[in-house]
Amino acid sequence: MSLFTSPLAEEIAPDLLDRFQRYVRIDTQSQRDIEGSPSTAGQLDLSRLLVEELRAVGLQDAELDDNGYVMATLPGTVDGDTPVVGLLAHVDTSPDAPGRGVEPIVHRAYTGGPIELPRNDTVLDPAAMPELAGKEGHDIVTSSGDTLLGADDKAGVAEIMAAIAHLAAHPELPRPTLRIGFTPDEEIGQGASRFDVERFGAACAYTMDGSTVGELQDETFSGVEAIVTIRGVDVHPGFATGKLVNAARLAGRVLAALPAELTPEATSGRQGFIHPYEVTGTAGKAVIRLIVRDFDDDLLERHVAVLRATAEEVVASEPRASVDVDVRRQYPNMRSHLEPFPEVVEAAERAIRDEGIEPLRTPIRGGTDGSLLSEMGLPTPNVFTGGHEYHSVREWASVQDMAAAAATIVRLAEVWARR
Ligand SMILES: [Zn+2]
Repeated sequence: MSLFTSPLAEEIAPDLLDRFQRYVRIDTQSQRDIEGSPSTAGQLDLSRLLVEELRAVGLQDAELDDNGYVMATLPGTVDGDTPVVGLLAHVDTSPDAPGRGVEPIVHRAYTGGPIELPRNDTVLDPAAMPELAGKEGHDIVTSSGDTLLGADDKAGVAEIMAAIAHLAAHPELPRPTLRIGFTPDEEIGQGASRFDVERFGAACAYTMDGSTVGELQDETFSGVEAIVTIRGVDVHPGFATGKLVNAARLAGRVLAALPAELTPEATSGRQGFIHPYEVTGTAGKAVIRLIVRDFDDDLLERHVAVLRATAEEVVASEPRASVDVDVRRQYPNMRSHLEPFPEVVEAAERAIRDEGIEPLRTPIRGGTDGSLLSEMGLPTPNVFTGGHEYHSVREWASVQDMAAAAATIVRLAEVWARR
């Protein structure tokens, strides 16, 4: 019995897998704290390849702009004023796990049980990964164990490419004009910032950047980043008596004083958190970088106030030390920006059902490019890709589920063409 969701998915799968394996081998890790776009040159290697491949399937206007954004058009096949629909995925991979030298492995017809990868003793254990436990019989793609796979978001890139190639080869299938966008630097929160919504010219768009098959997301965290800078008084330790004020120790006390229940590991569902993700420090100066998240803007502000009060209170215990808390907005919950356009989410729901899948409506405990794009006037919910365990060496993706996502794109085109 085929585990594909449809004959369409099965037909698209070989091309999809071929593209996916090609894309993941290109090192496209983005890098934080880099001026300019894209943050790394490797992303351009993939973007240039995508332009070539888009042209090869007939999208003659495909081009890469100076900031590393690829845009292209697949003209519609229906008359009338159907809206232009956008499809988006990001080419970069996370800086949080090794991303160079990815060598994908396809484990055909997974028989269940742990998957042992050849490098670093990395094991994918279904006992610890309920999603994997349900994929017996699927073809599972992993890395070799010492890098991430890059399904986030090359699964999305490959799904769009394979769906577009299929649609371009089948002009008899109804479709609106489709605009394709491949963006850089999503993982460092910069994917949407230089996106030219006007030039893209779509009425709405979909990011192919979710995970579990069926996922359709129209709600994200609202996110801010906070940088706490503590300055102490640095003196040679041999002469420090009564003089030294150790900023690193103060940073440790600030971390210890943050509410233990407001962490990513202790929260779920709709609860927010305060998450220190990088700490650097010397006696003279310590910097704590944190992200603060919530679905509710008032609660988000409350978490930021707690962080600020905690840092100030701890550092105030030492009058010669000083603290600065710099809060930067990262992205908004997309929900309020999508609500005025219910047809956008409805069309995706319909397309997922047409592929024989029950839509899963889960809020994203994170952000996507769609968060900012929706705020910028391009309503952009997020759709599943079939990849899992993102940003880790255990990342994996099911070929059958990726094919389901690509087939969903073809269905989505039809849903919009028939509106
Ligand atoms: Zn992603």
